[in-house]
Amino acid sequence: MPDNKYDVIIIGAGLGGLECAFMLQKVGMKVLVLEADALIGGCLQTFRRQGHTFDTGFHYVGGLDQGQMLWRLFKYYKLLDLPWRKMDEDCFDEVRLPTGSYPFAQGYEHFRETLTSLFPAQADNLKNYVALLKDVGDNIANSFNPRSADDVYSQSLFARSAHEFLTATISDPTLQDVLSGTSLKMELNAQKLPLYVFAQINSSFIQSAYRIAGGGMQIAESLRQSFESMGGTLLRSKRVTAFEAADGKATAVIVNDGAERYEAQTFISNAHPATTVRLLHTAGLVRKVFQRRIENLENTFGMLTVNVALKPGTLPYQNKNIFAYTENNVWSLHSQPRNGLKAIMISFMPPTDGSPYASGLDILTPMSWDEVSKWFGTKIGCRGEDYVEFKERFADQCLAMAARYVDGLQDAHLAHWVSTPLTYADYTSTEHGSAYGIRKDYNATMFTVLTPKTPVQNVFLTGQNLNLHGILGTSMTSMFTCAEIIGMPKVVSELNA
Ligand SMILES: Cc1cc2nc3c(=O)[nH]c(=O)nc-3n(C[C@H](O)[C@H](O)[C@H](O)COP(=O)(O)OP(=O)(O)OC[C@H]3O[C@@H](n4cnc5c(N)ncnc54)[C@H](O)[C@@H]3O)c2cc1C
Repeated sequence: MPDNKYDVIIIGAGLGGLECAFMLQKVGMKVLVLEADALIGGCLQTFRRQGHTFDTGFHYVGGLDQGQMLWRLFKYYKLLDLPWRKMDEDCFDEVRLPTGSYPFAQGYEHFRETLTSLFPAQADNLKNYVALLKDVGDNIANSFNPRSADDVYSQSLFARSAHEFLTATISDPTLQDVLSGTSLKMELNAQKLPLYVFAQINSSFIQSAYRIAGGGMQIAESLRQSFESMGGTLLRSKRVTAFEAADGKATAVIVNDGAERYEAQTFISNAHPATTVRLLHTAGLVRKVFQRRIENLENTFGMLTVNVALKPGTLPYQNKNIFAYTENNVWSLHSQPRNGLKAIMISFMPPTDGSPYASGLDILTPMSWDEVSKWFGTKIGCRGEDYVEFKERFADQCLAMAARYVDGLQDAHLAHWVSTPLTYADYTSTEHGSAYGIRKDYNATMFTVLTPKTPVQNVFLTGQNLNLHGILGTSMTSMFTCAEIIGMPKVVSELNA
């Protein structure tokens, strides 16, 4: 096969693109990955400042104990040898509300018992809640069975409101807040969030929770190395800017506005679906009405992140995340336009040298695109003084709020750097700098929960925008995308090999 001809071309080297590349190359296909950015990894990217490594997106994973779903997937992708650090079994996430501090323990029973001791009158409700999380966990573990009744189960939870479920089954409003309180890792939109998304994410982290020492980029780098060692090709700074088409199928992609051209039998896009269908429409492969439908899908909020470098040996490492709220009723806070900061997540970076002290921590708070859109089109580092002031104002508020929950933070603070949804949009080409991709809507699952298929027979989608977001969700979707090309039985035999 000539050098510019491949079996599969993958657009984007985020987690989803890299996992598909790994599997398809491994089963004998000739795969090319084209990444727009100079760095691979998308939301897994890390950056270094003053000797500190910071994560831009991902902070922890769920379901990585032996035999659990992410463990099975990461075993296949040879990612288990990375420096994973199990978080505090008794409190991997702490929810801080004005009414108190509430620990999330690892393991379904441990979790149930811990919260039952704080909410004894809700014992039966907690039992039922944990039973649901366990059912969802089992359902995920069975995902790779041929289409079956299990699928109907997940579809029914996708079509149910997470908020309605919680208010119907948990009668104590504070407990409703607690159970929802670790959910800056999804968007608590009462009118839209499907129960399946809420339950799947909570279920996997309650099964087990792990951080990685040294940054999430190691996941992307490990996948790249495995892929290349199997003969795959990955090219950076190669933005796919057009498709070529013949007979209703894609035949090639054009990179960097015509600089290069690569042909393939099959294409997978890890880019946002709106980007993909725009390119497909321009090539005459999908109709305008389809393009509009995908472009009109809403995206979840973005994040403002403050990456804080700490003075050495000053602040003890905390092996948990803190989710802090200034008010109860956390579901209303997620729609915050700013009249003050109301919710933050604080995540410590695990020491790489075994030190009991942290070298850095990150503070995250949801931020909508509207808050930064006026600077859209400006370049990183040249957005103007008003943007710098805007960022620093939020950073100051985040630092002040975090200092209320982390003793000694103010004294330990050495330096910090701030990113907004605009930063994510620039580095990962994500629409509106969205943290978790297309907003799923339980009222409209047919339209908002996408499958890997597109109207073009040989073009598929992958990544967090389709089904479930997060490391586990994206990894599951990679398998479904590969199944469209090599068949589910082959995917299952690969996973079980
Ligand atoms: C702030 C934040 C915090 C998070 N925290 C967690 C967490 O703690 N735990 C967790 O499990 N998940 C977390 N997530 C979510 C998780 O990181 C994502 O779900 C996952 O990494 C998404 O991977 P992806 O492959 O779908 O997409 P992306 O990472 O967005 O990758 C897409 C890639 O495609 C490339 N691309 C786009 N357009 C083109 C083009 N035209 N040509 C070539 N390349 C292109 C991009 O440059 C990018 O590299 C977080 C996300 C964010 C933003």
